[in-house]
Amino acid sequence: MVDIRFDEFSSIRIEKNLPECDLLANPLLTADEIEFIAKFYNFLEKDLDADIKKLEELNYFLEESTEQQKAEVIVKIMKKLADNGYYSVVLDKDKYNVGKIMRNVLIAFALCGGRWSEKSGKYVGGNWSIEMGRLAGGTLFCNPVDYKANKYQRENFLLPVARGGAVAASAMTEFEAGSDIAHMQLHIKDEMDEVVLEGKKIFITNGPLAKYILVYGRLDNGTLGAVIVDTKDQTLENFKATRLRTYGMEDAFVSRLDFKNVRVPRENLLEGNGLDIAFHQLTEERLVISGEALGDAAKKLLYSHSYAIQRTQFDHKLHQYQIVRMPINEMVRQLHLLTDSTINYARILDSRHDAMSKQLARQAMGLKIATTELAFESSIHCFRTMGGRGFIRQYSVPIGFLDAYCMIHGGGSNYVLEDSESRQLFKYV
Ligand SMILES: Cc1cc2nc3c(=O)[nH]c(=O)nc-3n(C[C@H](O)[C@H](O)[C@H](O)COP(=O)(O)OP(=O)(O)OC[C@H]3O[C@@H](n4cnc5c(N)ncnc54)[C@H](O)[C@@H]3O)c2cc1C
Repeated sequence: MVDIRFDEFSSIRIEKNLPECDLLANPLLTADEIEFIAKFYNFLEKDLDADIKKLEELNYFLEESTEQQKAEVIVKIMKKLADNGYYSVVLDKDKYNVGKIMRNVLIAFALCGGRWSEKSGKYVGGNWSIEMGRLAGGTLFCNPVDYKANKYQRENFLLPVARGGAVAASAMTEFEAGSDIAHMQLHIKDEMDEVVLEGKKIFITNGPLAKYILVYGRLDNGTLGAVIVDTKDQTLENFKATRLRTYGMEDAFVSRLDFKNVRVPRENLLEGNGLDIAFHQLTEERLVISGEALGDAAKKLLYSHSYAIQRTQFDHKLHQYQIVRMPINEMVRQLHLLTDSTINYARILDSRHDAMSKQLARQAMGLKIATTELAFESSIHCFRTMGGRGFIRQYSVPIGFLDAYCMIHGGGSNYVLEDSESRQLFKYV
């Protein structure tokens, strides 16, 4: 039995009772009704609470692990993507008629959304977890390394990933420094020929599968730096990656990384400031996530649409009810408009050398917010439309209902981005 909880996550304690949320404070209830419900609360606390907690506990233990089998499939998929030029887009830029950012965005859309195949007459499903693994290795690792690597680092760390398809990861987030990335604490200590890593990371996609991880942390002089860690196929001494069990993104290996005095050759350190290295790729990352979210929204809309056509209730097909039909229509409209915008931005960024202008970066941020919120909404609507089936793994897993929830936070939490967007708007006040 494996306990999937991490001690570092402290549980949230409810601090006080809000009258607005308290049934007993409801002025519509009569004295008898209040007494009745008060008794029930007593019973809940005295007689049921322990059993309910026990049930909750059981959700934290895994009896049979399918982890190894999943890991093998994912490693194989990344290699296949790389062999076909779909993993990273940083190499061979002149080989293609389509720009590199556009390629990255289109792959993301297609890999998340899948497509109904005319040829075989069936839906070839996409998978956002796989795309997230591709984004982590192919873009979040490869782009910064491509930006700053010297010849040795290119040959030894970039080519095996970008061309060879080795799984890679990018580790920024920490338990205390989530959105507030500048406060990361993992220490990269300089010891002449080596640097020594001490600290933890959390929510790191691909962590337990990665051959190479780009780890961001604090240098001795207080600034941020980035170093490439060769995990020696996960056997690196004093390093441990543990998979996090998530709701949604079931096939992704999101993880906690633990570095306890991990020694890495100094030549693996990238030149330059860690924040600059991390932020350099942000605009591309946001457009790729937009592509992912739009593909995912398209997939959810396809499922909603099909089910609304197939299912009959009260002697009518579901699509004959406006309440089912109209949201699909509205979201399809949004899907088209946002896809058009994403395509345009990708094209512009590919064609301009000053493409990473602040204005374009902000627009990409807005697109990331709008597209991930659309994926989120399409997911909620699809879940509603499916009725009871939405609860069943048989339906919910292939549709990936909860995947869209993750990307409200991945690549920058939407609240943080929206707050920054709105502040910009009022900066002249
Ligand atoms: C599926 C998944 C994969 C991920 N993969 C990676 C990865 O490969 N590498 C990596 O480094 N990280 C990864 N992350 C981490 C991700 O980038 C963080 O979850 C994100 O930065 C948010 O940090 P946090 O979870 O600590 O939330 P917090 O920072 O604690 O935020 C909590 C809430 O407060 C809001 N908030 C915080 N600050 C502000 C503010 N200034 N203004 C307004 N609202 C605010 C946030 O929007 C959020 O809603 C991944 C996350 C997910 C969900």
